[in-house]
Amino acid sequence: MRLDMTATTHVSATETQLLTPGTARIGFIGLGNMGSGMTRNLQAAGFHLVVNDVRKESAAELLANGAEWAEDAAAVAAGSDVVITMLPTPKHVETVAMGPGGILAGMPDGGTWVDMSTSVPEVANRVREAGSVRGIRVLDAPVSGMSVGAANGMLQIFVGGEPADVERLRPVFEAMGDPERILHVGGHGAGYAVKLMINQLWFSHLVATAEVLSTGVKAGVDLEVLRQALIASPANSNFVQNDVLSILNHGDYDEGFAIALACKDLGLSVDLARSVGVPMELSGLVEQLYRRAKALYGDKAGEMTPVKLYEDAIGIQLRTPVQASGSATEGA
Ligand code: NAD
Repeated sequence: MRLDMTATTHVSATETQLLTPGTARIGFIGLGNMGSGMTRNLQAAGFHLVVNDVRKESAAELLANGAEWAEDAAAVAAGSDVVITMLPTPKHVETVAMGPGGILAGMPDGGTWVDMSTSVPEVANRVREAGSVRGIRVLDAPVSGMSVGAANGMLQIFVGGEPADVERLRPVFEAMGDPERILHVGGHGAGYAVKLMINQLWFSHLVATAEVLSTGVKAGVDLEVLRQALIASPANSNFVQNDVLSILNHGDYDEGFAIALACKDLGLSVDLARSVGVPMELSGLVEQLYRRAKALYGDKAGEMTPVKLYEDAIGIQLRTPVQASGSATEGA
């Protein structure tokens, strides 16, 4: 997999017409953990939505609030100014974009497709090539911020593509994300690459933190004393300071992001490193740990479930005192 960072500009910034609420019709495909919150925020901002998902029931609330249902991706594309996809894997993206009844088949000349899935550029490149004579625009714009960020409209968005297209889409991105953290990170494919590297580092932080907390606790140090010492030290990280609290305080391994998708991201990330010739030993190990946790705890287990591997190994749940007694009661 190689990224195509070339940016050929077909639309100048002066020709840019912003897609604004009230007038723009947004097509959205993939109403899952992320897409459900994102569409709710687009609708609340005043965009008219045309939606599709293999699970029609996932659209019930949107339809009740005025969104239109389209029978397939081609119909979404035919009825919208821009189509957004938020799908699980590159395979799903390929089916929806290029398969029979897909986006490319239904999109009018000059249409725009924005893939916000965590994916790789191959499919988008093929759509760009096939659609270039028809003036079809393509952007990759994956996100960070978990399902909570999708629900409260505070996603971080990493956009790859041409500047004029990014500017035209800005009001749409701002309805779903934090305006301060909508970043145009480069040409086509750059958004996918940035997102994969963020996830790779975050998953690596998670595994490293699980090892350190488990070892320290097993050695007799109080969990919160150890965590505070780490926070005050040069080894502090956002994961130690904030994200691990989901487990320590609530026993919540974040089922809003399934471990099957985390394994998908880690596989894509290691593939990216391989394709550009970078040795990635640590990331390969993190990927294997994630795959072990997926095999043990199931595809739908939360993205933080690898911490459980360590908890099970030491026979101690990593919990703050209140949670620890609660867990003991539940487990009995
Ligand atoms: P999800 O599995 O909850 O939702 C995916 C949706 O796509 C489902 O509703 C599914 O029915 C639908 N779908 C699948 N195939 C389809 C098809 N052919 N046509 C129409 N709809 C189809 O996944 P998610 O957690 O919302 O993640 C979506 C993407 O966002 C993934 O690429 C993921 O890696 C990325 N992501 C997720 C999170 C998170 O915290 N959940 C955070 C950042 C990025």
